[in-house]
Amino acid sequence: MFSLNNWNNKKSWENWVGYVTAEPEQKLTPSSVEELQSIIKQARIDKKRVRVTGAAHSFSGCAKPEEIAISLDNIRGLISVDKEKKQATLYAGTYLHEIGDALREHGLALENMGDVQAQTIAGAASTATHGTGITLGSVANQVVAWEWVDGTGELHTHERGNPETDDLGNALHVSLGMLGVFTKLTIQAVDIYGLRESNERLEFEEGLAGWHDAIHSHRHLEWFLFPGTNMLQQKTLSVIEPTPMRRGQKLKDNFESWVVLNGAFYLLSEIARIYPKLTKRVSQIAAGSVPNTFREGYSYEVFPTPRGVKFNETEYFIKLSDFDACITEVNDILLADNKNSHFPIEVRTHKGETGMLSPTQGEDSVVLSFHVYKGMDSDPLFDWVYEYMKKWNGRPHWGKVNKLSSEELHALYPQLKRFLEIREQYDPDKVFFNSWFEQKFQ
Ligand SMILES: Cc1cc2nc3c(=O)[nH]c(=O)nc-3n(C[C@H](O)[C@H](O)[C@H](O)COP(=O)(O)OP(=O)(O)OC[C@H]3O[C@@H](n4cnc5c(N)ncnc54)[C@H](O)[C@@H]3O)c2cc1C
Repeated sequence: MFSLNNWNNKKSWENWVGYVTAEPEQKLTPSSVEELQSIIKQARIDKKRVRVTGAAHSFSGCAKPEEIAISLDNIRGLISVDKEKKQATLYAGTYLHEIGDALREHGLALENMGDVQAQTIAGAASTATHGTGITLGSVANQVVAWEWVDGTGELHTHERGNPETDDLGNALHVSLGMLGVFTKLTIQAVDIYGLRESNERLEFEEGLAGWHDAIHSHRHLEWFLFPGTNMLQQKTLSVIEPTPMRRGQKLKDNFESWVVLNGAFYLLSEIARIYPKLTKRVSQIAAGSVPNTFREGYSYEVFPTPRGVKFNETEYFIKLSDFDACITEVNDILLADNKNSHFPIEVRTHKGETGMLSPTQGEDSVVLSFHVYKGMDSDPLFDWVYEYMKKWNGRPHWGKVNKLSSEELHALYPQLKRFLEIREQYDPDKVFFNSWFEQKFQ
């Protein structure tokens, strides 16, 4: 979790895994929107570049603050709730883990969440952070109105309109902070609900045979495919009455998550790091110990799972209709050569959504995430994924490592040119650029 003390005490900045680092000249924590506006106005005069960082949970360089780093840790919390519309307005620095309890008091919940909740709502929306569910979109898709400070220090608001005509809304949808710093976001929430999680181990062929039915019969379905083993863990979440997670379940959960899963997986990962030739064996042991477990509670208690073992990650969105062919080939290739990887490949589904930079580009999609344990060389796996995903026109998650050039991104995102024209209007001096943006967005 983000700690303002650590932020203030350390001169340098680094992301969650520690691979993206920066030595910003200033680290600032404004307490009001007016203060934020004057910081940006001054930065523009001084020709300094600014990056707001949330919880630094991005693996790519999108949050790297090269000159001025800003944290909105002092600009957070629930502002108001419109019960009739089931909408909630939040300060942009609010952490996802603060939202569940705050919304529950109003009988509401987030429609969907990813597998951790350390991120800020603005950071998660800016990169299209998502969970799983073929009828469900990303965090960005839950946003219905934005307030932001642009690269000249001016404050703007915009309400999402008809996606056919709302150019600005489609640009704001996923904007990586290129149009400015979000200060408030209004989200479309849903009635509070509970979830029941189930896990089972399946052979690849058995899992694939039932996958298309299962993604429709469960609100959420996720796979963890163990490279080089032909085995996977299938996790499903189904809606139940909203009741809090029982205390006994929470204690069991903590024990299983931290001691059994994270503790044991950490030791296995250390073995893999020291003896990379054993990665296939490690993957087999991990696949063999998939638990047949159940958990129940409020949705926001069940969605997150602790990630105690650090890793680096790359992730691609492919068309739903390409899934069977792609995943069968991925499984076969990794059975022949696991590329020294032992972390399970995550497979999730995602409803198509509009948005100039949405990695779904309007199509129902499947998202494949590849991880490499911290301290191990991620190049053999990530280089292969980068080349391989060209075959499927895979679009990368903006918050995860990707090697795509600006030219390749223009080919995958036909509206990128239009997005950059809008960007130019809101940040003519590229106050919000860093070297990562220079490389990706020409
Ligand atoms: C352990 C772990 C688990 C993860 N699980 C998932 C998952 O389940 N699903 C998924 O899709 N992703 C996942 N991610 C990726 C993560 O959700 C995204 O990278 C997310 O953007 C991180 O949010 P953050 O608050 O840490 O923002 P940062 O990483 O700090 O910033 C992300 C981007 O948002 C910009 N930004 C931040 N605040 C603002 C603001 N107020 N206004 C404008 N721009 C802003 C930053 O400048 C940057 O460009 C995971 C990452 C980790 C480390």
